Amino acid sequence: MGRRRKSRKVVRRFKKTIPKVFSCPRCGVKAVSVTLKKKEGKAIVKCGNCQLSYEFQITPLLQPVDYYNKFVDRYYHAGG
Ligand SMILES: [Zn+2]
Repeated sequence: MGRRRKSRKVVRRFKKTIPKVFSCPRCGVKAVSVTLKKKEGKAIVKCGNCQLSYEFQITPLLQPVDYYNKFVDRYYHAGG
């Protein structure tokens, strides 16, 4: 009969992990994390090493990496 076997051979684990820790434009250490506070509508980007941090408004289309890019932008714009 038309019984299908579930082939459970290979389960490939996709590395779908988007990096959540980025390099800091000030200290160069890979310690910048993006925290989304959806309740407050804020994205906080902060370096765990030198404590450099900026807040941004959450924009639904943006990924954490985009906030990180803003963070870098802001940093250079602020002149260090
Ligand atoms: Zn830093």
